[in-house]
Amino acid sequence: MDYDDIKKERTIILGSGKSGISCAKLLLSLSKKVLLFNSEEETDLNKIKEKFDDFRNIDFKKGILTEDDLKDIGLCVISPGINPNKEFVKLIENCDIPICSEIEIAYHFAKGNICGITGTNGKTTTTAILGEILKEKYDDVYVCGNIGKAFSSDALKTNDNSYIALEISSFQLDNIIDFKPSVACITNLSPDHLDRYKTYENYINSKLRISLNQTEYDVIVLNYDDEILKSLAEEKIFKAKVVFFSSTNELANGFYYKNGYIYYKENAKAKELLNVSEIHLMGKHNYENIMAAMAVAYYMGVDFNTIISACKKFQPVEHRIEFVRERSGVKYYNDSKATNPDSAIKGLLSMKGKTVLIAGGYNKNSNYTDWVKLFNGRVSKLILIGDTKKDIAKVCRLLKFNEIMYADTLKEAVKFASSFANIGDNVLLSPGCASWGMFKNYEERGILFKKEVMNL
Ligand code: ADP
Repeated sequence: MDYDDIKKERTIILGSGKSGISCAKLLLSLSKKVLLFNSEEETDLNKIKEKFDDFRNIDFKKGILTEDDLKDIGLCVISPGINPNKEFVKLIENCDIPICSEIEIAYHFAKGNICGITGTNGKTTTTAILGEILKEKYDDVYVCGNIGKAFSSDALKTNDNSYIALEISSFQLDNIIDFKPSVACITNLSPDHLDRYKTYENYINSKLRISLNQTEYDVIVLNYDDEILKSLAEEKIFKAKVVFFSSTNELANGFYYKNGYIYYKENAKAKELLNVSEIHLMGKHNYENIMAAMAVAYYMGVDFNTIISACKKFQPVEHRIEFVRERSGVKYYNDSKATNPDSAIKGLLSMKGKTVLIAGGYNKNSNYTDWVKLFNGRVSKLILIGDTKKDIAKVCRLLKFNEIMYADTLKEAVKFASSFANIGDNVLLSPGCASWGMFKNYEERGILFKKEVMNL
């Protein structure tokens, strides 16, 4: 892309959330001109303005975007939350204005060594583990992207000796142009966000863009147990060197889990790295996250001793199978971040003993069958909340799981759950659905759950 466009003309930033604001600040600090746009009429522009202290080069607009607004615009930065099918995005496309994502801009101005983690599930956990490993080895480490802190807020702080662990969502990959991590990772693939992508194929293609600009000098870490990723690697679609991890297969080369241990094998020589009883994470999916992080860190130049020591110290990230408390012999877990059926499957499989499951939420057109199939024998009671209540219940009845009840609020669901759980059971909030509709985001849902559990 010709970044001179940013120099000459104004850049329009679509979306005034975290990444839009960080990107605007980055461009302003380089004396570039910005138009920050939010299509929602109810946007409080004064609140957004409060986040800036120099207004010389920035304008703000909300509501309807017109061709007139775009007269001197040379580039558009689109925030991940914005659906590309919106009218105002089409208008920008029709005006032939190049569109890129916030990570593309940040990448252009960042220095140092970049690794990028994407995948349907496990991104945040893997990125957080990776960040801890890198911090143990290197002095100047940034952990950013989808994990909560925009890449553009760190980009200008980096230097040639910096290490950047980036969590990247498919929405952020949709509009990259030159972005290239030297080590990339796709943790796994399963259908998600089909409300926006329409087909699974579109969604997969979006995830694969993480490797778009990689060359044979770069590395891509892939999950060997993921049939799609494995066969794409066999078809040699990746230019980068492929490194596999597996929780079910003893690999000839790569990182694998077997009988309670994580190994690394190269040239037929296996090295035992970790006894998983020494880490603080539950479930096989977390061994996968650990292996993915280990593999990326290894190719970012970290030695195994440092990798192992950081993994042993790592504590679970909030809202991911997070232990809340034990009350009357019942363990309560907050897995609010399980926002699709595949991650909820992992949450449920991590529980030892019977589970009272609180699930349901916003409708993303997901398929619940594989998840519900696991309920008989594992879930003693399913308490459903949110928009998807009836859809999930329908699948349950089809699959002959009938221990279902509805709750109007999360508070009520927690109350019901505590009354049904017996000594030795778990109460698990692992919704399998996004939180929108009832909550601002999964964090708000998880925090409320923890509060209600603590109030019992
Ligand atoms: P992401 O950032 O991709 O949403 P997180 O690390 O935040 O992933 O984990 C979200 C939820 O997904 C967790 O609560 C857990 O239930 C599930 N999960 C975590 N890692 C994996 C994995 N490797 N495979 C499948 N599900 C996972």
